[in-house]
Amino acid sequence: MTRIIYICQTCLRIAPSPEICHDRPMFRCDAGTPGSDRSRPPMTANGELKTHAPLWWVEQCLSRRLEVKKTRLKKTEE
Ligand SMILES: [Zn+2]
Repeated sequence: MTRIIYICQTCLRIAPSPEICHDRPMFRCDAGTPGSDRSRPPMTANGELKTHAPLWWVEQCLSRRLEVKKTRLKKTEE
């Protein structure tokens, strides 16, 4: 069974059900099944931990942050 969790985009707080945090709804995240690849932290090619956060968390949070960075860069270019 897939777990769905919710993350605040501002403070990255995790909740098991949708809540409002920092005046925004927390975004939905598919955390995968417990014990699956998605619930393990991502590894480098050498088998070292990139981070202690599970893969789904890294995907969600880093992709969101990159999007924010890109948007900010565009704005400064204009
Ligand atoms: Zn928050």
